[in-house]
Order: sequence, then C-alpha cells, then structure tokens
Amino acid sequence: MAPSISGLHHVTATVAEADPDVRFYTRVLGLRLVKKTVNFDNTGVYHLYYGDERGRPSTLMTTFPYAGKGLRAGTKGAGQITVTSFSVPPGSLEFWKRHLAARKVSFTEGAERFGEHSLMMEDPSGLNIELLEGAADPRTPWASAEIESEAAIRGIHGVTFVVRRAGESIRFATEVLGLKVVEQTGRRTRLGVEDRRPGSYLEVLESDHAPDAVNGLGTVHHVALAVAGDQEQLAFQERLRTMGYQVTDVRDRQYFRSIYFREPGGILYEIATEGPGFTLDEDLSELGAELKLPAWEEENRDAIEAALPPINPHSE
Ligand code: ZN
Repeated sequence: MAPSISGLHHVTATVAEADPDVRFYTRVLGLRLVKKTVNFDNTGVYHLYYGDERGRPSTLMTTFPYAGKGLRAGTKGAGQITVTSFSVPPGSLEFWKRHLAARKVSFTEGAERFGEHSLMMEDPSGLNIELLEGAADPRTPWASAEIESEAAIRGIHGVTFVVRRAGESIRFATEVLGLKVVEQTGRRTRLGVEDRRPGSYLEVLESDHAPDAVNGLGTVHHVALAVAGDQEQLAFQERLRTMGYQVTDVRDRQYFRSIYFREPGGILYEIATEGPGFTLDEDLSELGAELKLPAWEEENRDAIEAALPPINPHSE
C-alpha cells in the first residue's frame, strides 16, 4: 500500500534571541514549551519546541535561536515558507485583538482567503505569524488562565510558501507526497490531506516579483510532514530515490526520526515519524522544564549549559 502523510508535523525557524522567543510563543500565543534541547547539529544553539500539552504532531513550532552566532537576518522570498498560520476557533479573533493589544504586539487584519479571516503579526525575530479563524478544529488546545480554551490555538493550520512556478510544486506535492488540491484562488493553491483538516495545509503562492529567499535570522527553515512510523518513512524515502530526488538518510532526532529533501520550488521538506514523542525523557507534567540532551551529548553537558543564554519565560 502507498505510504501516506497524516498532516504537518512541525515548522522550524531560525530566530534571534531565545528569551523573547520563549515569551512570544508561550505568553503571547499561549503554546506550551514542550522541549528545551539543543540543535543536534550545533550544540551551541538551543532547539526549542512549542506545541499542545504533549507536543503532538501538527501543533509544533520549533526554533533555533541563533543570535550572536554570526548569522545575518534572512530575506523572505521565493523558495521559502513565508507565513506560519495557527488555527484559532471561529469567533475568537476579537479576543485575540484585545490580547495582542494588551501584550503590545502590533497586528493587522489579513485579507480574507478561502472565506477565512485572520490576524497577521511578526514574532520578535520578524517571522510572519498568522492567527487564522478557520473551520472547526477538533484538536484540544493547551489553555491557560490568560488564554482559555474557547480562544486558544488548536495547532498549526498550515504554512504558505512562495515559488516562481506553482505547477511544479503542486505536482510534486500531489504525485510524490500524495497530497490533494483543497482549494485554489488566483495564484494561491491550498494543498492538504484527503480529509481536509487544519493542521495539514500547505499553501503554494506563485510570485514573479518576490525576492529570492535567503536563509537567516527571522526566516522559516523547513516544514515537516508527519508519517505514522518508520515503515511509511522508508517507503517515502524509497519513492523519492526511485523518482530521482535527493533525500537524506534517516536522522535520529530523539523525539522522532527524520528524512529531508527539497521540492522543485526550493522548499526544504522533512518527513518525520509521529513517535516516540516528547515524553521519551520527561514526564508529561514536566515537559520543557529542564535542558534535555541526547545521550551522546551528556558528557558535554557542563560546557553546553555554560555556553547557552539564560531563559526566563516568566519574566515580563
Ligand atoms: Zn524539522
């Protein structure tokens, strides 16, 4: 049987300072910090994961705070994910306007698309973040006293990426990944899984005028799609190789396993397994409390901790 994508897994961005990043995603957007670890490919940098209570696939936003590490600000443009959209319940945008104003986050109302309304803002590093009031979303949110469950983010709704020729990207997503065209308007196409769920959408936006994207601070690095397990992942790896695409070996990301490849428009995709998940090395109630390192880095813990900046998520 052909392997299938179950939805988005996570979105990963290169950001600036860690401390404002944690405050924005936990206090402004109300997500839970579910894991505090390091970039396994560069242990001088945190890897922060935000999501629902247990960091389920499709709720996860992850960041690499690279401030002070010699990276310049990136350029948003063609060949890149330019907007990350979070799903909020119908009727909740009025709450969000008051909440954002109280938190001194400036926002604009997004142009209606596919009949849906949104608020647009930038995170502290300049990433474009959208709160999208879409169809009913059954995912259980992480709620707090300040952002109650009636308004809280359900998870990621989808991402928008810009390419020069949408046709090639759409063909790749449908023929190689098995996604469906959900809706189309002008030069924007929404792709998703068969049952059209928030948390599974990729919006392809074709543009002649957008600058060429440059990776750097304040840009999205990649989007990860979820598969149930190792077998599906290996089947996709085999399919990509058979069709002539470059794809990496399986990488152990501790909380899931990953393969990476580029689609024709230049977007970096990852396919990640749903498990084993974030309770692998912390209890559910303690997620995100401690700096967690993979076993092979434990012997370097003192040096790694000394080099990382402090995070004070509860400071204002
Ligand atoms: Zn990733």
